[in-house]
Amino acid sequence: MSETGVAPTNFNDLGLPDALLTALAAMSYETPTPIQAQTIPALMQGRDLLGHAPTGTGKTAAFALPLLSRLNNQKSVQVMVLTPTRELAIQVAEAFQRYAAELTGFHVLPVYGGQEYSSQIRALRRGVQVVVGTPGRVMDHMRKGTLSLDRLQSLILDEADEMLSFGFKNQILNILKETMEHKQICLFSATTVSYTHLRAHET
Ligand code: AMP
Repeated sequence: MSETGVAPTNFNDLGLPDALLTALAAMSYETPTPIQAQTIPALMQGRDLLGHAPTGTGKTAAFALPLLSRLNNQKSVQVMVLTPTRELAIQVAEAFQRYAAELTGFHVLPVYGGQEYSSQIRALRRGVQVVVGTPGRVMDHMRKGTLSLDRLQSLILDEADEMLSFGFKNQILNILKETMEHKQICLFSATTVSYTHLRAHET
């Protein structure tokens, strides 16, 4: 909702930069979905967010667009998205790439288990602004020192309830512990259980 309490009916009302609006127009996106209208302004302000959104509601653009709008031109990792599966990691990375089609020098990398480390490490060394990965492989890169999150601005837990049911809780808690200080955290889940679950370790 906007400050007037009226949901924006087009993307121009959301304050997104022209480069993203051009990409959206090329993809024939005309109207923000409800989750996009509610989420994009909050995330552009750097706020934390808990979103109830199953697949198919437009949740990927709901977090990708505002986070892309906040990137600076450094090549360091500024946004990291955790996903329960490699398929979703690839899908989300492809969506970032499409939305960022008009942003020069933008790089996103999916990192997941089952793929050799060397190509992921080469890409990380070249520099990416967004990493989308499964928790186990992300944790491995953090331990090896091949993924530096010193400049991370935003951490997104996509399908958080699925990640918990897949047994990724310890990895997620470790990643949160190492990254959450002063970071924007955004959690998407189809159910409500996981947020308190994950925030509990803060105290
Ligand atoms: P998601 O829920 O993020 O998996 O998105 C579901 C599908 O809806 C994807 O194919 C998106 O490209 C598409 N989509 C998302 N937002 C919009 C929108 N505002 N207008 C048209 N299509 C959209």
